[in-house]
Amino acid sequence: MNCPKCEGVMQTVSIGDVDVDRCDSCKGIWFDALEYEKVKGMKEAGELVDSGDAGVGRMHNTEREVKCPKCHTLMVGMSLHDQPHIQYEMCSLCGGMYLDAGEFKDSVEVTFSEYLRGMLKPRE
Ligand SMILES: [Zn+2]
Ligand SMILES: [Zn+2]
Repeated sequence: MNCPKCEGVMQTVSIGDVDVDRCDSCKGIWFDALEYEKVKGMKEAGELVDSGDAGVGRMHNTEREVKCPKCHTLMVGMSLHDQPHIQYEMCSLCGGMYLDAGEFKDSVEVTFSEYLRGMLKPRE
């Protein structure tokens, strides 16, 4: 499978029982349908999966007309509803999603700090 944004090759990265695909060049990450939901709850997922340079990711984030690497359908640009600054592409046919380097880490880290904030709330 080739990266939908550059000429890179997508390589399998295993985390828990899930295999996601990461571009060997721009380090963008491809999640098959529902994989994102599974992986984002895993411990250290951001560090293990998203090893790329967020600066490179931001450069690729502006690309439009991105085709699904699996079924070659034109993907739709979306943003995470709880973190609208994170924009990703989603395939409406196979349900896969593509995040640029740094975006996955960003999404799980904010979730984690929000979790901590919840923990540190003073007791009534
Ligand atoms: Zn790439
Ligand atoms: Zn697809």
